[in-house]
Amino acid sequence: MPDQQTIRDGEQSVETDHPTDAALRFIGRINTPWRRRADCPRQGRPDGPECTIEIFEPWGPALRGLERYDRIEVLYWLHHSRRDLVLQNPAHDGQLFGTFALRSPVRPNPIGTAMVSLVALQGLLLTVRGLDCLDGTPLVDIKPDRCAFSPKAPPKPGS
Ligand code: SAM
Repeated sequence: MPDQQTIRDGEQSVETDHPTDAALRFIGRINTPWRRRADCPRQGRPDGPECTIEIFEPWGPALRGLERYDRIEVLYWLHHSRRDLVLQNPAHDGQLFGTFALRSPVRPNPIGTAMVSLVALQGLLLTVRGLDCLDGTPLVDIKPDRCAFSPKAPPKPGS
């Protein structure tokens, strides 16, 4: 159910077309202990609870080699967010911030990202720590930690 909660003081929404300019393919489902947004941490922590990420077929082979990384980046779709605010009042105190100056889940394309510890990878199931999203949040992508990653492709000029 999208978050159509009452707008806060000073917040500004805009009229937008129904977005059609990119089609995402959800590649899995994130399982966490949190059923309500109010219970989710604002940002995941390394000592947060173990959560699991189920990868949907046919994407299983895409996990090959991921087990080499202790930390991975997870991108997810904050599917209960409203998407039309340009100004937000996160503390309810009248102080306004532009959406792109926040990590709020409310954004035109509600993509969440988290660097998480990879605890285990068994078949299509990853166990991780460091998430902050609702149970059932759709998975958009997984990438190795950019600091630990070295490019597998030949070097390019300037890199
Ligand atoms: N770590 C991500 C980031 O920085 O891109 C997300 C941060 S956002 C502040 C995390 C908050 O989004 C949670 O505390 C919860 O209130 C909300 N949230 C979590 N899962 C959501 C979902 N599936 N749909 C909408 N809101 C969600």
